[in-house]
Amino acid sequence: MIGSTLRQQAVSSVIARSSARPSETNGTSVDKLYGSSVFSLAVMKSHLPKDVFRSVKQTIETGAQLDPAVADVVASAMKEWAIAKGATHYAHVFYPLTGATAEKHDSFLVPDGEGGALTEFSGKALIQGEPDASSFPSGGIRATFEARGYTAWDVTSPAYLLDNTTLCIPTAFVSWTGEALDKKTPLLRSMQALNKQAARVLKLFGHTNISQVVSYCGPEQEYFLVDREFYLARPDLVAAGRTLFGAKPPKGQEFEDQYFGVIPERVIAFMVEVERELFKLGIPVKTRHNEVAPAQFEIAPLFESSNLASDHQQLIMITLRRIAERHGFVCLLHEKPFAGVNGSGKHVNFSFGNSTQGNMLDPGATPHENAQFLVFCGAVIRAVHKHSALLRASVASASNDHRLGANEAPPAIMSIFLGEQLADVFDQIKAGGAKSSKAAGKLEIGVDTLPKLPKDAGDRNRTSPFAFTGNRFEFRAVGGGQSISGPLVVLNTICAEAIDYVATELESALAQGKKLNAAIQDLLAKIVNEHGAVVFNGDGYSAEWHAEAEKRGLPNLKTTVEALGALESPEAVKLFDKYNVLSPRELHSRYEIYLEQYVKAINVEHKAVIKLAKTWILPAAVRYAGEIADSLGKIKALGVAVDTGSLEQVSKLVGELKSATSTLESLSAHEGGHGVLAEAKYCRDKILPAMLAVRSVADQLEGVVADDLWPLPTYQEMLFVR
Ligand code: ADP
Ligand code: MG
Repeated sequence: MIGSTLRQQAVSSVIARSSARPSETNGTSVDKLYGSSVFSLAVMKSHLPKDVFRSVKQTIETGAQLDPAVADVVASAMKEWAIAKGATHYAHVFYPLTGATAEKHDSFLVPDGEGGALTEFSGKALIQGEPDASSFPSGGIRATFEARGYTAWDVTSPAYLLDNTTLCIPTAFVSWTGEALDKKTPLLRSMQALNKQAARVLKLFGHTNISQVVSYCGPEQEYFLVDREFYLARPDLVAAGRTLFGAKPPKGQEFEDQYFGVIPERVIAFMVEVERELFKLGIPVKTRHNEVAPAQFEIAPLFESSNLASDHQQLIMITLRRIAERHGFVCLLHEKPFAGVNGSGKHVNFSFGNSTQGNMLDPGATPHENAQFLVFCGAVIRAVHKHSALLRASVASASNDHRLGANEAPPAIMSIFLGEQLADVFDQIKAGGAKSSKAAGKLEIGVDTLPKLPKDAGDRNRTSPFAFTGNRFEFRAVGGGQSISGPLVVLNTICAEAIDYVATELESALAQGKKLNAAIQDLLAKIVNEHGAVVFNGDGYSAEWHAEAEKRGLPNLKTTVEALGALESPEAVKLFDKYNVLSPRELHSRYEIYLEQYVKAINVEHKAVIKLAKTWILPAAVRYAGEIADSLGKIKALGVAVDTGSLEQVSKLVGELKSATSTLESLSAHEGGHGVLAEAKYCRDKILPAMLAVRSVADQLEGVVADDLWPLPTYQEMLFVR
């Protein structure tokens, strides 16, 4: 195909490049590389006076307040370290509610008044920054006249050097009134809530030495790589991150030959460079493989404390995007870049534990450990059942709506997969009292040992949004492009509440003279009776499950608009307020902001569809109709009989495209009525279907119009040519 459209140029240059060998990356050994750009505890130890180091370490490990006196010393050590490595600037990095990462760079240099310059970085500058934050969403919390929010150093997430030029300091972002404007602040608060409640349960199990309980997260990131030329020739990808047009290719993912297949050489070169960059930042990336869809891949780090995992996840997304460009790719993190092709999720593997008692969701080897595990596991069951709507809300976005329930990702119904053995244990608990003996087929908690639970049942049930996989839960509804903080805040908080309940029940049973094991048995039986409805081990994609879930009273919140409503429920307001994670005002601001983002996302798509339909697709179709007409005229002039069928077909589709496009053009979110909720509903009910109607005609035209006239790179080209 030779020609001069963007599509034609893209195809030629991608083909030319595919024969070029990827450049070799230079070979510093990975062990030297790992963490080399991080101001880690080890670096601090060698750069700080002993007492200062001890104080910082204490703050990190116990969550204690930072001694302000040490800030100056730490700042100066950080500066020396960073400058020695070539840094010129420092930046407070924060995580606004857009889900992105934001940073403001300041130079270390200050003029000395004599034509030279000094370097300066004070404790104050380390602890607190003032980004001009008026353009970040605040949902009414921060009126523009008091637009300044401030960033506050998060001591628990280490500073690092980006590109050898900028010292980055992870921070929380709050308003002057102390209200959270970001994703980190509530995450840190929710970790505290979880810690406090979990410690109560551990105490009941006789533990005296209890270190800080944290939640752990190992996020698996799925993504697509498309060639940059194709991307640039697709205004829909550029504007919306997903294709708004495109017929299915003759070969899709039906052969499943891509999953875990050999990774193409160019992609390997990209992955190697991504991993080296992430290693430098101390991010423990572990696995890489092909995903289900063509051109889809996965990267996963080892699990870390949720706060760190979340900061690192943001860096992983940034790094994937940046390095992709160096290799002539664009990395798509959108949840559904290609209709009819597998979407991208981010599986959030979740557990909690500490350094003294270990992972609390690990069954362990003794009956005593098993009992403790069952209590925490029971708490998770209660948490997810009570707040399944909140969990759904935590992954709600315009883009993730295309993925959830799309028969390749979990449905919008939040249920728990426990696996056969564990489900059986809870069934036994439900059926039997504390005194039943094992011989009668009943399990006595605290005396009997659990059956061996299979670890890593990860892929065994891909249809469940929340699956137990041996020593953790895997929350699979999270979207590929989302920040994992929101889901983690919800998980931490609902677990804190359920663990609070469990601790309170057990404490009062013990106070009444009950034995611990008997109290646990009763409590778990109660939990299974009241919350067992959320457990489902079957096929989450099936129509029967949708009917069954409705009978069980489990919410099925299909779209973001319905799901976000959960943030306004009295239970949610009470929950977040009670555990000091989000005040009612902070929670409401999030509801408003996320709805606004939904409307904005669809507005962009709305405009892009109109533009592409009118100025790219329609002209191509009309030109093609003209070509046919010309040819038919010439043939007819020779006295040969002509069949006008193909011309009629194109003309008919052109007519339909015009009419569908003008219908779409006549719609506007503002017609939805007053307020962002009304607009969001209008987007969902009117604009999205009208966009699909345009697409449907356009995709039919793609199957009819001559290939050399078709302007947009096809699915086949984007997914298979490299
Ligand atoms: P799979 O594809 O089978 O789900 P992966 O190995 O790709 O498994 O990813 C599993 C993720 O779960 C990794 O990030 C891993 O570190 C993480 N993980 C393992 N154990 C825990 C745990 N106890 N808590 C949280 N995450 C965990
Ligand atoms: Mg997984």
